[in-house]
Amino acid sequence: MKRIISVLAFLALSTVAASAADPFAATRLAWNKPAKPFHIIGNVYYVGTNELSVHLIVTPQGAILIDQGLPESVPQIEQNIASLGFKLNDVKILLSGHAHFDHIGGLAALQKDTGARVIASAKDKPYIEAGAIPFGPSRLVPVTPAKVDRAVKDGDTVELGGTTLTAVVTPGHTPGSIGWRMTAHENGKTYTVLFAGSISVGGNPLVNVAEYPTIADDYRASFARLKAMKVDVLLTEHQRFADEIAKAARAAPGKPNPFVDPSALPRYVATDEADFNKELAAQTKR
Ligand SMILES: [Zn+2]
Repeated sequence: MKRIISVLAFLALSTVAASAADPFAATRLAWNKPAKPFHIIGNVYYVGTNELSVHLIVTPQGAILIDQGLPESVPQIEQNIASLGFKLNDVKILLSGHAHFDHIGGLAALQKDTGARVIASAKDKPYIEAGAIPFGPSRLVPVTPAKVDRAVKDGDTVELGGTTLTAVVTPGHTPGSIGWRMTAHENGKTYTVLFAGSISVGGNPLVNVAEYPTIADDYRASFARLKAMKVDVLLTEHQRFADEIAKAARAAPGKPNPFVDPSALPRYVATDEADFNKELAAQTKR
């Protein structure tokens, strides 16, 4: 009995220590709440959590998975892929959006479980392979490193089974924050889909950042670039920024696909740009 009590006391202490060490403990629990997977448009599906997007693109030659959530998201991502009727080893390519723990946390495990090739932005490759980024809130949460098989730069393409994704690098959030653009086909029509890279401040320092001196200019260039772009379907790395779960709930046979919304990208950029300007002003005053 005494031994059991001391084991319990040890477990309780470890839990306290773990939550003290990880300032994101509560956020992680909230972000990892499960979500039902759903169809988006054409050959594009959602297999992420209630917060963290993981997008699946299915082709006759296998599937592509964009973003991999937290380490603890992996079981539900794998379950979601299976419940849509696809096999885990159908996944041939793992694409990474940016090197923060909430999007690459599950990458190493999914690389092992699928045997897929990992493709990521050249500038975030060193962080993914170190499992750590040296600035911003994510510096506090290292993850298991993953090997990047191919590093891409802006305009490079990834092709599988007739689907081509074009890299849209929008740095700022991280030096290599990357989005992917593709064409989806549904009911005889074609739609431009953007899996947008994150462009939020996200707690980043914006002024005098030794590890990333061009951060503020990079954000500005990314806003300008996305403002000049037109897409039919916006998908984001945190699903709520594009209301993906809410849109899926509105989908109904015979009705227009709720994901087709050309106003979504301009709204997404405007929100993050206004936030950036406010935060930059505040940090400049300090
Ligand atoms: Zn991030």
